[in-house]
Amino acid sequence: MDCLFCKIVNGDIPSKKVLENDKVLVFHDIQPAAPVHVLVIPKKHIASMNDVQGEDYELIGEIHKAAQEAAAQLGIAESGYRLINNCGRDGEQTVHHLHYHVLGGARLGALTGISNSHA
Ligand code: 5GP
Ligand code: ZN
Repeated sequence: MDCLFCKIVNGDIPSKKVLENDKVLVFHDIQPAAPVHVLVIPKKHIASMNDVQGEDYELIGEIHKAAQEAAAQLGIAESGYRLINNCGRDGEQTVHHLHYHVLGGARLGALTGISNSHA
């Protein structure tokens, strides 16, 4: 399958890994939007939040656990962080393999909603 994050899981594309187990992988985002910006992905290919079903829901727990562990490992657990999933066009999802962003290391500001860039 021609999927960027599957290639990262398989090691065909290198990544800066933070942690890994048999279910999930956490690695640094190539274009960080905050001092700490990592991506948490299931090793299983799931295209988006809309495609999570059945036993996949257990993976969502694994993803939260890995995000929590990565935050501690990266020293942002106390200061706080944001866990984000972008889904579909309006969510500005660009990579169609389920992933959660963990952003931290600075005050992130209030959540912003509509951007004018696609208006
Ligand atoms: P999305 O916009 O789909 O929620 O997030 C995709 C994220 O993947 C973006 O933050 C982007 O910087 C990151 N990304 C895209 N290509 C690569 C890559 O080859 N390696 C890594 N580490 N991150 C990537
Ligand atoms: Zn994939």
